[in-house]
Amino acid sequence: MVKMDKRKKILGIDVDIINKDEALEVFKELMEKEGFDMIVTPNSEIIENATRDEELALLISEAGLIIPDGIGLVYASKLLGYELEERVTGIDFLTEILAYLEETGKSVYLFGSKPADEERKSVAELAASRMKEKFPQLRVAGTHHGYFKPENESEIVAEINRSGADFLCVALGSPKQEKFMKAHAQEFTSVRAGIGVGGSLDVWAGTVKRAPEFYQKHGLEWLYRFAKQPSRWKRMLRLPVFMLKVIAGSKDRSESENSRE
Ligand code: UDP
Repeated sequence: MVKMDKRKKILGIDVDIINKDEALEVFKELMEKEGFDMIVTPNSEIIENATRDEELALLISEAGLIIPDGIGLVYASKLLGYELEERVTGIDFLTEILAYLEETGKSVYLFGSKPADEERKSVAELAASRMKEKFPQLRVAGTHHGYFKPENESEIVAEINRSGADFLCVALGSPKQEKFMKAHAQEFTSVRAGIGVGGSLDVWAGTVKRAPEFYQKHGLEWLYRFAKQPSRWKRMLRLPVFMLKVIAGSKDRSESENSRE
């Protein structure tokens, strides 16, 4: 379990101030424990959304692991005096998880992203093949695309259960993927933990390219995405807005602390 003193608040939303190794230790404990636990990887945009979405805020606070993903959270932590050594990106953490699953013989179910069309297999199936190239002993219990009608949801849960998977990857975008896991948490029979991975299956499948290493190293993935997809500019503006809110919040906090002295 995440130690109590590692779970902090950013804009009032819970985040675990931990590095990759600590996160992996907690993950392994969740996989040993009975029942289903959710792993969330919020970035600044998701934290901001959660300040306006009570259901999302509650679901984050109840997660077994809340991994800070995104440079915005590293900056915010610095401002708030939290000791966050590094950013643990969801996609890197997923690779660590797959290595663990291969090593322990546990299986994964990939749920989400685009269905198959005339030209190619579904993104989840393509991702499964690429994962098996990298981790040859990895057991993929099953895959399902992420474009379904609400009335088919329980059939998908039943299929996941029939597959006997130990771990679940959900790629429906946030917060849809987290809300899906929360809604069915009590119904999973074999799955011990699940993670929302956003566009990570697309990256594994090769249908979307990740930013080159230079951008990753310098926390500039947002700039790369902006250059590729200028239509995302509105989403880009949310990072400075988030930072301003954190600055305003930390100022309020220190002023109220001063006035108490
Ligand atoms: N997606 C899906 N079903 C939906 C909506 C989205 O399977 O109803 C998939 C989509 O194909 C993509 C992923 O969810 O693979 C969302 O990726 P995005 O990069 O938008 O994730 P976010 O930035 O929201 O985490």
